[in-house]
Amino acid sequence: MGRIAYVNGQYVRHGDAVVHIEDRGFQFADAVYEVIAVQKGCLIDGDGHFDRLERSLSAIQISLPMSRAALKLVIREVLRQNRITFGAIYLQISRGQAPRDFSFPQGIIPTLVVTAKRIKPFDFNIVSKGVEVISIEDIRWKRCDIKSVSLLAGAMGKTHAVNQGAFEAWQINAEGFVTEGTSSNAWIVTPEGELVTRHLDANILGGITRQTILKLAQEKNLKYVERAFSLQEAQKAREAFTSSTTAFIRPVVKIDGVGIGDGKPGALCLELLKLYGKHMEQAQ
Ligand code: PMP
Repeated sequence: MGRIAYVNGQYVRHGDAVVHIEDRGFQFADAVYEVIAVQKGCLIDGDGHFDRLERSLSAIQISLPMSRAALKLVIREVLRQNRITFGAIYLQISRGQAPRDFSFPQGIIPTLVVTAKRIKPFDFNIVSKGVEVISIEDIRWKRCDIKSVSLLAGAMGKTHAVNQGAFEAWQINAEGFVTEGTSSNAWIVTPEGELVTRHLDANILGGITRQTILKLAQEKNLKYVERAFSLQEAQKAREAFTSSTTAFIRPVVKIDGVGIGDGKPGALCLELLKLYGKHMEQAQ
């Protein structure tokens, strides 16, 4: 059986799924999206993702085209029809289709697309291996808190990283601070053992994995602080790691070729990775 996608009320073969050429998502990147991990058929942190989806939509004045409960049913059905128990849901909502004009047209119906793909189940032995990141200039717009489909800067940055054999690129703003990865949040552990990730503002996306890690740290009474850190501080850190829905938590062992700590995945990162694995096990 081939892949099935949901497009505006219909379940169609993935290869036949289409949106209009005057869809504003296509013309203006006038759309937002979510990616939700699925483990053993359960959505990981579904509520966090739906909350962020609603925040992104409200920031650009699009209303959720159906209730949250109905959206969950669509997601369940997409998972069922694609027979996915370990994977990721991709959900995109655009403003809809209208004759091309910069200003937001009124009264149009949002486009809703939901797809699913299989990904390998969480495997501690695989994800606990260290990865390398490089730094790049943060050339994005000033509303990175909106999960918009306007991802060209990130796509360029990630391509540059991959071409250099790195897992991710950490973006550096004009003040020299690390904002975040192209598709992940950035973390360090200071030489004093304090867990640090950048505070939330319009310069980064509030990652759901980030939110869960902070919750897990709090539950374990681990000291953490949300503040900006520079590339230099990161290179001198005891540990570093990067977090996202589909990559989970990845220990960073080199930044721009400079070894982090003893050059191996750090103890606190591995502890958080174990806790995150348990958190996913407990999802229902
Ligand atoms: N920052 C950016 C720019 C991202 O694209 C992503 C992944 N979508 C993240 C952070 C991590 O967010 P999450 O943990 O919700 O996947």
